[in-house]
Amino acid sequence: MHPLSDAELVDRLPDILINHDNKAFYRGWLERRLLLNRCLQCDTWHHPPKPVCPECWSDAVVPTPVCGEGTVHLLIRLRQGPPADGVDYSTPHPVATVELAEQEGLRYTSTVIGDGAADVAIGDSVRLTWIERNGAPYPVFERSGASSASER
Ligand SMILES: [Zn+2]
Repeated sequence: MHPLSDAELVDRLPDILINHDNKAFYRGWLERRLLLNRCLQCDTWHHPPKPVCPECWSDAVVPTPVCGEGTVHLLIRLRQGPPADGVDYSTPHPVATVELAEQEGLRYTSTVIGDGAADVAIGDSVRLTWIERNGAPYPVFERSGASSASER
C-alpha cells in the first residue's frame, strides 16, 4: 500500500479539516490505527496533535499507536443534534471522553458501541474498536469490563 498523498487524505475525509499538524493522526484512521503524538525527548503523550511537546517543547514528537485500553472519564448522552452518519439520538447517543492507559490525562473523545453501550458509565473499562462512518474508518470504544458502576 503506497502512502496516501495529502490530496488523497483530504478526499477520503471530506468533512474533516486536515492540516499539517493533524494529517498523520488522520492517516492513522484510514489504517485503523489511533496515532497520538508522543515526545521522543521526555516520553510525554499529547492530544490533539501539536508540532511541539507541551511538556518540554521538543519538536521530536512522533505519531505513535496507543494500545486502545482506557477508562471512561466523562460521559454525556445526546438526545438531539445535527444529522450524522451512524448517529442515532433516540437511543440516546453516548459521547465518552476516555482516559487512555498510556498516561494520566491522555484522553480521547468518541462514542461507545456494542453490548452495554446504553448503560455505559463513568469508570467503565473500554477498548478501542473501529466502525465505518461516511465511508471511512472511525475510532470508537466498546466496553471491555464485566461490570458498570451501576452494577457494583
Ligand atoms: Zn517532551
